[in-house]
Amino acid sequence: KSIKSTQDITLTKYHKTFLACAAVRLIRKIGLRHYDYINNIIIFPDKFETEEFKFKLDGVTGENGNLGLSWKAIIRGISDSTDGDCVITHEFAHAIDLLSGDFDGIPHLNCDKEILHWENIIIKDFQQLKNEVKHLFSNIEDESELFAYLSEYFFEKPNYLREKLPSIFELFNRFYQEYELKQ
Ligand SMILES: [Zn+2]
Repeated sequence: KSIKSTQDITLTKYHKTFLACAAVRLIRKIGLRHYDYINNIIIFPDKFETEEFKFKLDGVTGENGNLGLSWKAIIRGISDSTDGDCVITHEFAHAIDLLSGDFDGIPHLNCDKEILHWENIIIKDFQQLKNEVKHLFSNIEDESELFAYLSEYFFEKPNYLREKLPSIFELFNRFYQEYELKQ
């Protein structure tokens, strides 16, 4: 993938390696193809605006496959790996979501039965889920944001997620295959 930056930050191999190491966590068990939709990754030194969003962003994923990330937010996200805040996980989860066609909160799945599970939990129960997590994420507008925010929790606060939203945890773990669970 192409990794570029704005003029006010000089990208080094360190930045690129750091970014790649954090981003690979999401797909290390399920394959690089889940990032096929990504074209360019653009690093900004701090919060930034885009033509579409006229307010300060930590990260953004566009339908054109471009990802924008604030370096400051990347460092904040990585420096505490158990607080459920990680902009890399968030934006790369959006890219995973996009591979299946659009921002619908459902990643690319191979089996119809599993697609049905996701549709039932993420789309059909969306309002209920949104209510259940509103004390954690107040700004969830749609299923895609739900998937991205819950992915942050899945990787950074798995025990919390497993306890509070077991059906989400199981659904996500069947997809990401991150945790080997003892029965
Ligand atoms: Zn988002």
